[in-house]
Amino acid sequence: RAKEKGRNDFQIFNSDMKSISINRIKLENELRKALTNDEFTLYYQPQVDIESGRIVGTEALIRWNHPERGLVPPNQFIPFAEETGLIVPIGEWVLRAACKQNKAWQEQGFPAMPISVNLSMRQFFQHNLKGKISYVLEQTGLAPQYLELEITESMTMDVDHAIQSLLELKDLGVNVSIDDFGTGYSSLYFLKKFPIDKLKIDRSFVRDIMTDPNDAAIVATIIAMTHHLNLKVIAEGVETEDQLRFLHQNRCNEVQGYWFSPPVDARQMEVMLVGGSQAAAAKLEQ
Ligand code: C2E
Ligand code: MG
Ligand code: MG
Ligand code: MG
Repeated sequence: RAKEKGRNDFQIFNSDMKSISINRIKLENELRKALTNDEFTLYYQPQVDIESGRIVGTEALIRWNHPERGLVPPNQFIPFAEETGLIVPIGEWVLRAACKQNKAWQEQGFPAMPISVNLSMRQFFQHNLKGKISYVLEQTGLAPQYLELEITESMTMDVDHAIQSLLELKDLGVNVSIDDFGTGYSSLYFLKKFPIDKLKIDRSFVRDIMTDPNDAAIVATIIAMTHHLNLKVIAEGVETEDQLRFLHQNRCNEVQGYWFSPPVDARQMEVMLVGGSQAAAAKLEQ
């Protein structure tokens, strides 16, 4: 009996493993096809100056326009792409598409502002990152000060590599921000040492600032610290008027979140760029 049961267990285990790996192979093939069939698309989320209420930047966020499954959010394929290495060509596509769009907006007469692009760990550790980014800027005609690269704290753990790469990016003239700040490996050493421009306070801290005194203290402290270090600071995931008021009182520079707008497609972004700054100013007046 035990033997029989054991055999069955093995078979179940075996067929599960098989279906998992079949799914993975399927997904990998689908992602490759998505690249050649141009199924990826970028959404854009405005970054708003808290004093003026004007849109001062946008973050490019990838979506996968899947032929059957519809619009697939990044959490459902970016971690897998990172694992398999497909993130490198996907990330390059994102970088090029974002630079191209930002240049097009400038040519259409919208106010020039930086576009933020999320860099993956593999991209950040890629050989000749500076050369690759500089090539994309050249191809798209976007000036480097209008590109901002978002990295996460985990990418700074190899301090020597991170400093070297960041100095190269600085030399190129692009901006660098630390995304999801506070959730990862936070060394105050790197804030002092690294040539970065901006901290993005993770939305997990912003979410409960009105109810959790610890989160309120953490957010206020991060903001105060950025001012002393001469860094810019943006709060992610701002959803309510109360959160906005708290951030304003604590002198946060910028906000990004559903309060102003979720990520939208390029056309909707253009509507906001035309009328949005006045609407935002009015909203802040209230
Ligand atoms: P992230 O870079 O921290 O981007 C912010 C995420 O928070 C976005 O999710 C955005 O839709 C969401 N968000 C913004 N405001 C609010 C809010 O007020 N409330 C809530 N609940 N959420 C808000 P999204 O677009 O699903 O992206 C998730 C993550 O996927 C990103 O987090 C980023 O880490 C990654 N990602 C997105 N695009 C790319 C890409 O092109 N390359 C790489 N490597 N990663 C990407
Ligand atoms: Mg980001
Ligand atoms: Mg992120
Ligand atoms: Mg973030």
